Amino acid sequence: MTNLEPNPVENLCPAGPAAEAGLQLWPARKVPLGGVRAMTVERTLPQRGLPTIGAWCFLDHFGPDEVSMRVLPHPHMGLQTVTWPLAGTIRHRDSLGSNVLVRPAELNIMTAGHGISHSEFSEHGPAPELLRGLQFWIALPEEARHQEPRFEQHTDLPQVAGDGYTATVIIGTFDGTASPATVHSDLVGAELTAGPGAIDLPLDPEFEHGLLVLDGALTVDGQLLEPGPLAYLGEGRSSLRAATDDGARFMLLGGRPFREDLVMWWNFVGRSHEEIDRARSEWEAGAARFGEVAGHGPDAGDRAGRIPAPPLPQVRLTPRKRT
Ligand code: MN
Repeated sequence: MTNLEPNPVENLCPAGPAAEAGLQLWPARKVPLGGVRAMTVERTLPQRGLPTIGAWCFLDHFGPDEVSMRVLPHPHMGLQTVTWPLAGTIRHRDSLGSNVLVRPAELNIMTAGHGISHSEFSEHGPAPELLRGLQFWIALPEEARHQEPRFEQHTDLPQVAGDGYTATVIIGTFDGTASPATVHSDLVGAELTAGPGAIDLPLDPEFEHGLLVLDGALTVDGQLLEPGPLAYLGEGRSSLRAATDDGARFMLLGGRPFREDLVMWWNFVGRSHEEIDRARSEWEAGAARFGEVAGHGPDAGDRAGRIPAPPLPQVRLTPRKRT
């Protein structure tokens, strides 16, 4: 997915965990999308005051909606995209030559490194179909962000059964079980199905964690969590006790607090305004850095074209420390 905001602002993402302890609820922002796509996107990361959870730096939940996805080639840098469909099938093409179907329960992780471009289209063409899914971005640390791009698909993710729940380990490590996906910092990303009843999740106390309910409801620290907001759990928890009356499905995200300041704009994660400006100019100029996505271009009919970069905001911003 691309960030389809017509006038995205730069997001300053200072390093480190959010200061306050205890459970915090961060409401989703409904992001107005450009163009004719009528898909509802709820964004829970980044937020002012909560820019990252570990290296997780962006979280969009789209659908469920009867729509046709048509996202033309667009660039990324400095991040990994994690596409986790919950309903529907999407075809992913990228500048590495990948041309694959993206299906529920399968992990698609694209490492942008210094530059990649990709497209995402409904497999059934312009006919609307039920689509729902999550798109996450993981910020790449300094030593990994200049690497060559790569794309991985994992169709056989490990499952873990625990106290009142079952978990699919999508990214990183949960309860000692590791996902096969390549990552570059200490992370967890898991989809859990629980209850009804009590749940006791093992957590890494060196991580900060967040929880996003997808279906049903869950009580944590005396608060009822329902689909919509992102619950931030802070650092230092070695377990999480929760309860659900009718069952719940939720995402657990976590990681070691990210120690590098970030500047995020549009589809780019960098360290300075100048770096973002250069990437934008190179995409607009068709530079080799972002490659070409096969299957698009003059003869591709509905798939002709690419997404132009929006204008850079007038205000020049620099990353700040989280306070
Ligand atoms: Mn994208």
